[in-house]
Amino acid sequence: MSPTSSFRALPSTQWLLEHPRVTPWLPLVGREKVLQEARKLLDETRHALRQGQEPPSREVLAERLAERLAQAHRVRLRPVINATGVLLHTNLGRAPLGPEALDALLAVARHYSNLEYDLARGRRGSRLDHVVELLRDVTGGEDGLVVNNNAAAVLLVLQALARRRRVLIARTQLVEIGGGFRIPEILKQSGAKLVEVGTTNRVHLQDYHQALETQPIALVLWVHRSNFRIVGFHREPSLEELASLAHERGLPLVADVGSGALFDTQDYGLPHEPTVQECLQAGADLVCFSGDKLLGGPQAGIIVGRADLVARLRKHPLYRALRPDKLALAALEATLRIYRRGTAREAIPLWRMMALTPEELRQRAQRWRDVLGMGQVQSAVSTVGGGSLPEATLPTYVLALRPRHPTAFLARLRAQEPPIIARIENDAVLFDPRTVFPEQEEALLAGIRRAWPGETDGLPATPASTDAGPANTSTRH
Ligand SMILES: *Cc1c(COP(=O)(O)O)cnc(C)c1O
Repeated sequence: MSPTSSFRALPSTQWLLEHPRVTPWLPLVGREKVLQEARKLLDETRHALRQGQEPPSREVLAERLAERLAQAHRVRLRPVINATGVLLHTNLGRAPLGPEALDALLAVARHYSNLEYDLARGRRGSRLDHVVELLRDVTGGEDGLVVNNNAAAVLLVLQALARRRRVLIARTQLVEIGGGFRIPEILKQSGAKLVEVGTTNRVHLQDYHQALETQPIALVLWVHRSNFRIVGFHREPSLEELASLAHERGLPLVADVGSGALFDTQDYGLPHEPTVQECLQAGADLVCFSGDKLLGGPQAGIIVGRADLVARLRKHPLYRALRPDKLALAALEATLRIYRRGTAREAIPLWRMMALTPEELRQRAQRWRDVLGMGQVQSAVSTVGGGSLPEATLPTYVLALRPRHPTAFLARLRAQEPPIIARIENDAVLFDPRTVFPEQEEALLAGIRRAWPGETDGLPATPASTDAGPANTSTRH
C-alpha cells in the first residue's frame, strides 16, 4: 500500500473516541486527554507509515490508545513491594508509617484541625506547639523545631546563626549525603563561609584551636558521617572535646547527626550510631536529624537544643519557607508519642522489621518457596540503607530465583501491580522477607508468578522447577 492510501485507511480521532475500548476512559481521564492521546497516536502512526512500516488495523489502533489511556489513568505515586531487604531506601520512600501515625495523619487531613490555633485561648497558635513538649521529653533538649527535612534544618541553622560569617568544620566531615546534599554546598547556599580544618583522614583538636585563634568564627559544625566510614589511619576530636572548645570561646556547637536514632542500635546487633540524646549530653548546642531515617517517622527535619538558639531559628524568615505541613506534623506527633511511651520496638514498623529474627525470616522465605514451587532459600544480609549505618548488615534468609535473564526478570517484576523491587546477587534474583509486609505477601507471590512465564520456555535453572514451571504451579497455592 502506498503511504497516501494507508493514510486514508487510518481512522479519524472521532472514530477512535467512539470505539467501545476507548469510550470508558472518557470520564476517567477526561475528553481533552483522550483527544490529545488519540492525535499523538495518529501522528506517530503516520510517521511510521512514512518510514515504510505496515499500517496497523483500526482495531489495533483503538487497542493501543486504550492501553495508553490505562497508563495515563494509573496512579503514579503508589505503593510498591520492597523485597530488597534495604530497610530505609530513599528511592522507595524511606520509613513506612505504622497505624498510629497513619490514623493521626488521616484524621488531620480529613477535617479542619487546630494546626495553628490555640484552643485554650481561642487565638492563633504555633504549629510547633504540638510536638515541642514531646521532643523535649524524648531527647532531653531544652526546645525544638521542625522543618521539611534535615537538609532544610541544616540550611536554616547555618543561615540563621552564621550567615556572612565563618563556620568551622573538619575536612573529614565535608560529606555528600546523596541526592545532591553536600555539606560545602549547603554552607555556600546559606551564605556562611566554610573554614576547613585538618586533613581528609586526620583532624586534631589543635587544628581547631589554631583556626579559632586566627579568625572570627560564628559556629562549629560537626557532621556525622552517616553513610560511610573512615578506616585505618584516622583520628578526630570527640564531640565532647569540640563542645568544650567551642564553649570556651562562647561559640555554639551544632551537630548534624543525620539518622536520628533515639536508642542504641547495638540492641539490634548493629554498630553504634550516635543517638540524639548522646549528642546533647556531649554538649552540642543544637542537634539536627531526619524524621524518616532511624526515627521511623514521616519526612521531617528536627532540631533540638538550646532554647535561645531555637528561638532565633523560629523567628528567621527562612523558617516560614521550610516549615512542615500538617500531615507530617500529625504523623510525627504520633511517632514521638510511641517513643515517649517506650514502645518503639513494637509500634514503629522500621524497628519491628529490624527485630525480625533469622528464623522467622527463614520460615517466611521457605513458605514462599513452597507456594511458588521453585527457587532456593539461602542466607543473606539485609541492610539499613538511607544513608544510615554504612556496612551494617542484619542476617536474613532470602528466596533466590535464577532466571536466565535476571535484569529482564527484574523489569517484569517492576511492571507488576503492585510493582515488585528485588535485587540481583551473583546472577540470582533475591527476595528478602524482612522488608515485605505480611499483607503484601500474596501480591508478591502472584506478581512473581506472572513475571516468571517468560522464563518457562526452557527449564529454569532452579532445582524445584524440574517437575513444573511456575505457570503450572498456581493450582498448588
Ligand atoms: C540524611 C542526612 C541529611 C539529609 O537529611 P534529609 O532528611 O534527607 O534532608 C543531612 N545530614 C546528614 C548527616 C544525613 O545523614
